Amino acid sequence: MKQPILLNGVVPIESVNFCTAFFDHRNILEKTTNTIDNSAVASTLFSEYRLDPATGLWTLIAEGRDARPSNTEKLVAPSNVSVSKLEYDSDCPFCRGNEERTPVAVAFAAPRLDSDGTGAREVDEFEIVESSSFAEVPKRAWFSRAFENKYPFFRENFERKEISTFESVDKSFSIAKSSTRLFFNSISGCGRHEVIVDSPRHLRSWSEFTDLEIKLAFRLFRSRLKASRDDGRFAYSFVFKNVGSSAGASQRHTHCQLTGNVEIPPDVKREMERLTRYERLRKTRGEEYSFWDALLEAELRAQSRVVAASDRFVVYCPYASRFPVQTEICPRFDGAFEDYDDSVLDELALLARRTVAALEKGKRRRYPDDPRPLDYNVVLKNVPTGLDSCRCEELCFARPRWLIFPSLVKKAGFEIGCGIDVNPISPETAARLLRATF
Ligand SMILES: [Zn+2]
Repeated sequence: MKQPILLNGVVPIESVNFCTAFFDHRNILEKTTNTIDNSAVASTLFSEYRLDPATGLWTLIAEGRDARPSNTEKLVAPSNVSVSKLEYDSDCPFCRGNEERTPVAVAFAAPRLDSDGTGAREVDEFEIVESSSFAEVPKRAWFSRAFENKYPFFRENFERKEISTFESVDKSFSIAKSSTRLFFNSISGCGRHEVIVDSPRHLRSWSEFTDLEIKLAFRLFRSRLKASRDDGRFAYSFVFKNVGSSAGASQRHTHCQLTGNVEIPPDVKREMERLTRYERLRKTRGEEYSFWDALLEAELRAQSRVVAASDRFVVYCPYASRFPVQTEICPRFDGAFEDYDDSVLDELALLARRTVAALEKGKRRRYPDDPRPLDYNVVLKNVPTGLDSCRCEELCFARPRWLIFPSLVKKAGFEIGCGIDVNPISPETAARLLRATF
């Protein structure tokens, strides 16, 4: 029978009998909508990684994420209202006192119980409590707390049942015989997705944190990443932060997120493969320095892109920065972030805060007529689980770095068309700007 044709020649979707992926998707949505419960953590309705058969790129489709409430545009401080007056917002689910509006904490930083409660002032007077008993959380004067994301990227928090990997699915693509196998390949989106509220105060940015707050935030990151590594189900766990709506934040109150991913993401894998090649070459040449040591040495010699350096860390704007004023904090030693001792962690925490403050000052200096605060992302480019550089001679190329991306430009036609980012501020100019504000 002849297919009905619409005016413009488009065949109505119902008559296209090979489009099984569309119907599979709809069935799954109906099923999950019926079974969704009203517990504190709502299931994402639909979550799967999909392979673009032409480009080989993966996309995570996470339906349900767009249901999350947003208040980033609200509460922009009028210039005559002091910050302290905005430290608590009765409508904010992340402010201390409003804990019942979020899922119960899986971990939090709070004064040790043997101290005088809220009177603790030094970081060593605090403890990270990881507990399955949550009743005490609202009563404790927490400084940072972690809980499951109500609107997760992933539909399940646990390992997926199938054994497909990004690599195996991509490989099977080339030998696929049916059009469904050829064009519609996916893997279910499983993993862990946590929110880490890193200050009890209704702040926006790390630059507003006290020493104590930023140190405790980094201690909770370390603790949650360690828990994710020890869990054993995740190949790659990392922390990231979105500040401001143009950087993807839906809540104004400062917070970070942690995801435990069952597979090493393609970006991280590509970097590992490149650095492995470098390591092999280095060994055959008998060179002393590992990739990161050699790169940092070269940057310190060149100076033009270095913002600051200590014995332990270098802050610099990478040579091929994808975004304007992209800044990285790279350690000058091997070792997993999860294994940092307290003194290293405290130094890193203060350095991260100082770097963000310099970026904010730099933005005001470069764009004096723009009164908006700087939106930015922070990403921990972490070491995949099981590849802790200090434990394995062969893999000593991996090193955890903190990447900070000010949201100053959007991906536009050229970037989308070519897959190449256009950066209107050279890293040399960016570093000069930051050295002046650091
Ligand atoms: Zn708040």
